Amino acid sequence: MSIADRLSQAIDARRDDLIALTQDLVRIPTLNPPGRHYHDICAFLDTRLTASGFACELVRATGAPGDGDAYPRWNIVARRDGRGTGECVHFNSHTDVVEVGHGWTTDPFGAELKDGRIYGRGTCDMKGGLAASIIAAEAFIATAPDFAGAIEISGTADEESGGYGGVAYLAERGYFDPGRVQHVIIPEPLNKDRICLGHRGVWWAEIETKGRIAHGSMPFLGDSAIRHMGAVLAEMEEHLLPLLAGKRTAMPVVPEGARQSTLNINSIHGGEAEPEPGFTGFPAPCVADRCRIIIDRRFLIEEGIDEVKGEVTEMMERVRAERPGFAYEIRHLHEVIPSMTDQNAPVVRSTAAAIERVLAKTPDFVCSPGTYDQKHIDRIGRLKNCIAYGPGILDLAHQPDEWIGVDDMVDSAKVMALVLAELLPSGG
Ligand SMILES: [Zn+2]
Repeated sequence: MSIADRLSQAIDARRDDLIALTQDLVRIPTLNPPGRHYHDICAFLDTRLTASGFACELVRATGAPGDGDAYPRWNIVARRDGRGTGECVHFNSHTDVVEVGHGWTTDPFGAELKDGRIYGRGTCDMKGGLAASIIAAEAFIATAPDFAGAIEISGTADEESGGYGGVAYLAERGYFDPGRVQHVIIPEPLNKDRICLGHRGVWWAEIETKGRIAHGSMPFLGDSAIRHMGAVLAEMEEHLLPLLAGKRTAMPVVPEGARQSTLNINSIHGGEAEPEPGFTGFPAPCVADRCRIIIDRRFLIEEGIDEVKGEVTEMMERVRAERPGFAYEIRHLHEVIPSMTDQNAPVVRSTAAAIERVLAKTPDFVCSPGTYDQKHIDRIGRLKNCIAYGPGILDLAHQPDEWIGVDDMVDSAKVMALVLAELLPSGG
């Protein structure tokens, strides 16, 4: 029997184990924010993976954003060395889940199995993927105990809030250095027949227009920051947004609408603060002396961050040239560079071949409109051989009644196990 067939059998035999493991993980409510039960889930994974022959290390991201006595940022890195020297394949999953929200018809942390689906917060994003990678590794180790190289499995904190207490912290401490890890698979829910090569970049900034307060009955004595911002927004509509819409990318971003530069105005605030809840009086008449927007600019591998920032500065300067007294400030908040792994990189080729073998289908190559932990592995870890591949339907992430299909988890576990067989050959 071929190794692919033996791995397939070994995973089918673990189907109930895969379901139970997913349920156990979902029943630990690792909500972020604020970052609950991170130590509990690491301890659970420690027990499980130690029993499977992994050496486990629990790492607290001391001093990372959000870390403290109330909500410590715990991570686990588990490693299983083979009998011979070779490369290391690392499966990285985030253990945190987003808030529950409204509209559920099942218990969000009950992990109920119904009609071949497991329901609950974090089933699809991404405890189902984590469970699939563990079952894949265990089935591979049982089937090919003489493998060369190493398997690593990490469960990391805070991906949903930027990954600074998780993958970024580990990457800064060498856990993703190319000398230690050669291949990274992040089992985010991108569908079992798609390989995600990377993601667009991000720039967040706050733009403030300045004004001068005066009595609202004599607005000519003041200078309205809101009217100045109105001019900025008009300029943005007229010139900047059409410019961005015209920037197309070779990145295979899905959905199709995100295959270009985009800019979202996240919020706008100007003038008097919102009244406190319960206040029933009237506002006071004032000219707004400040107005602020937060922009969320998503950019392409073809664009540089300086160009992205420069376009916004140029827009502000065009407005200034036309408006007497116009003053503004741009405050940088956050940036992430785009990341895209080469389609010919070894982990991509192996995963594509495994998908063809297991699913009898040519995989689709995609990129994500938003970012995920690949940014840290690429920029801090300097590791370019990284993809996201895992079971689940991305659209269900963060939704009520989130679920993962058991068949999809089984299929993607078979793909992951076959990738291990190809990258970590036995004997030799
Ligand atoms: Zn996720």
